[in-house]
Amino acid sequence: MRYAETGYNLEIDLSTGNIERVENDPRETELYLGGLGTNAKILWDRVPPEVEPFSPDNILIFSAGLLCGTPATGCNRTIVTTISPQTLLMAFSMMGGFWAPELKYAGYDKVIIRGKSPDLVYLWINNDKVEIRDASHLQGKGAIETMELIKQELKEPRAQVAAIGLAGENRVYFASIEQGKSSASRGGIGAVMGDKGLKAIAVRGTRDVNVARPDEFMELCKEVLDYIEFRNANPIPGVMPILAGLGSPQEMKIHDEKWHTENFSWGNSRVRRKNFWNEDIAKEWTRTLESMRKRLISCYNCPMACAATISPPGAPTYMMKCFSKLTYTMAAMSDLEFGLRIAQRATEYGVDGFSAPQVMAFALELYEDGILTDKDMEGMPSDNEGRFYWLLDRIVRREGIGDVLANGTYWAAKQIGKGAEAYAHNNIKKHEQLPLKLGMLNPIYFLMYSTGEKINITQIEGQFPQAPFPKREQREEFVKDWFQVPDERFKQYFLDWEPRGENSIPYYPTVQMTCEIVDWQEMMHYIDDALGMCAGLSSFPLKPPYHIHNYPKFISAGADIEMDEEKLKKTVKRYRTLVRANNIRRGMRRKDEKPPENHWKRRFPELEKELLDTYYKFKGWNNDGIPTKETLLDLGLDYVYEDFVKRGILKDEAETPPEDSSAEKEAK
Ligand code: SF4
Repeated sequence: MRYAETGYNLEIDLSTGNIERVENDPRETELYLGGLGTNAKILWDRVPPEVEPFSPDNILIFSAGLLCGTPATGCNRTIVTTISPQTLLMAFSMMGGFWAPELKYAGYDKVIIRGKSPDLVYLWINNDKVEIRDASHLQGKGAIETMELIKQELKEPRAQVAAIGLAGENRVYFASIEQGKSSASRGGIGAVMGDKGLKAIAVRGTRDVNVARPDEFMELCKEVLDYIEFRNANPIPGVMPILAGLGSPQEMKIHDEKWHTENFSWGNSRVRRKNFWNEDIAKEWTRTLESMRKRLISCYNCPMACAATISPPGAPTYMMKCFSKLTYTMAAMSDLEFGLRIAQRATEYGVDGFSAPQVMAFALELYEDGILTDKDMEGMPSDNEGRFYWLLDRIVRREGIGDVLANGTYWAAKQIGKGAEAYAHNNIKKHEQLPLKLGMLNPIYFLMYSTGEKINITQIEGQFPQAPFPKREQREEFVKDWFQVPDERFKQYFLDWEPRGENSIPYYPTVQMTCEIVDWQEMMHYIDDALGMCAGLSSFPLKPPYHIHNYPKFISAGADIEMDEEKLKKTVKRYRTLVRANNIRRGMRRKDEKPPENHWKRRFPELEKELLDTYYKFKGWNNDGIPTKETLLDLGLDYVYEDFVKRGILKDEAETPPEDSSAEKEAK
C-alpha cells in the first residue's frame, strides 16, 4: 500500500502518442520527497545539459506535491518542471487551485511529457482512461476560454484544466500555464508546453488517497486549522498587512496601496513615486476594485480566499490574486482600472504578470530614447494605454517587434543592440524580477536574490521579518510566541536587530547569521514545493501554521516515511543540491549569482563577496557555487559527483566514493 502518493506516474510521449502508467519507486520518495524533489531527480536522469528547451527530449513534468489530495489544509500545489527557454536553467513554477489534488484522485502523482505532437492536442485524464485528443479547434483560443470549451466538450464540468493561451502556442519566453484559479507563470514553462503542441491537460479523478495513520494525521490537520483561525483573529502587530496574517498577500481584499505604489518602481522598474498615494486615488481605486471584484475564492481545501474573480465591464471574468493587481498599472504609469482590464487579456493570452508588463515598458523606453524607431513600432497607437494593448497583442503573436520582445528583456536587448542592454536592468539569471529599487544593501536579500534558483524573490523570502521593529519592546513581544523558529538563536538575532546604528543593515545580521537565516527561509520553501503546500501557509508568513517542527509529523503520519527534523533537513538539502546540480551542469556559476546592479543604491562589494564566499561554504559549495565532492557524497549524490567529474566540472580526486554511499542504497 502506498500512502499520500498514488505510486504511479503517467508517461506520455507526444511524438509517438504512447501513453504509459508507470509505477514509481517509493525509495525515491523517501530520498527526495515528491513534487519538486522527485522532479529534480527525473530531470537529472533524463535531461542532460545538451538538451535544449525546445528539443523534443526536454520533458515537462506536472507533479502533485507529496501531500496533495490528503486532508492537509492548503496542500494543493502543482509543481511544473522543465528547462526554461528564458534562463536555460531548470524551471519549477508552482500553481495552486484544484489541479494537483484532482490528479491524485485520478490515480497519478505526476504527468511526465516528452516529445512533440505534430498537431495541437490536449490530454484528457479521466481516472484510468487517458487520451490524447485533437485541439485544432482550440488553436488561438484564450487559456480560460479553452478550459470552458474543453469542459463542455467532455461534458465534465468538474474536470480541472490547465491550459496555455496564444503566448504559449507561440513560444513566448514568459508564457504561463493557466488554471482558472491559479497559474504557473515563471520561467516560460507555457512556452515549452506550446512547443510540445500541448494546449491543455484536463483531469478528473474519483479515487481515494490513503494516509498512513489517519487519526494522527487528522489531529495534525485540526491543529493547523485552529491555528489559522487564531492567526486570522490575531494579526501580528507592527508589520505590514501582507505579513501580519496568512495566505498569499491579500491584495484582493485591501484597498490601501500606499506601500506598494510608493515603494515599488513604476515603468520599466525605473521610477519611485514617493507621494503618489492620496485620498482621491484611494477613493477611485477602491471604487474600481469593488465594482470589478465579484467574489473572493480559495484554492482546494483552504479557508483563506486569497484570490478573486474579476469582471471588467464588457469583458469575461477571470481570476486574480496577489501583486499582479498592480504590475500592469504601474508599468504603464496608469490606474487600477487599466490594470484590471489589461490583466484579463493577458490572462487569456497566458503571460507572466511580472515579466510581461516590464517587457512592454522596456519597449516604450527604447522607443522614447530612439533605440526602437517608428519603423519598429509601425501602427502603434499614440495613447499610452493603447500602446500597451498593442504591444501585448504583437508579443503574443510574435508579430514584428513583438517577435523580439517575446523573448524577454534580456534576449530582446541583445538582439536589438544599440545600447538596449542597459535598459534590461532588472534581471537575475536572465529573468525579470520584482520591480524594486532600494537604498541600502540588505544582506539577507542579497543572498536570496543571488543564489535563489526559483527565479522569484517572493517565492524564496519569508519566515524572518523583512525589517527590524523600531523598539526593543516590540521585538520582545514578537519573539514571545515565535515557536516556528528552527532554533532559539534566531530570536536573539531578531532581538538585537536595530533600524540604525551598529546592529543595522548592511553589517547586521552578521554574515554568519545571514547565512543561517537565508538557509532557513529557503529550506521552508523547498519543503513546501515537495509536499505541494501553499507558501502562504508555511514559508512566506512570519508565523505560519506549518513549520519545521510539525512537518516531519505530517510526512510520517501521511506518507508513512519515518521522519524527524534532522532527517527532513538533510532530505531537503539533498534535493535542493540536486536542483543546483541540474543548473551547474547547464553552466550556471558564481558569475550568474548577482542581483541587478541598481537594485540598491548603496552597495558594498567587499561585504557582498564575503557574504557569497561564506554562504557557498555554509551550503557545501565551492567558491564557484558548485557543490563539493564531500557535500555530494554526504547527501548520497555520488552519481552527481561522477557526472561532474566526467564533464570536468569537478576534478577527480584519487579516492572513489564509499561503496555504500549512494542515495539509492541509503533508501534500501
Ligand atoms: S492560502 Fe490562499 S493561495 Fe494559499 S492555498 Fe489558501 S487560498 Fe490558495
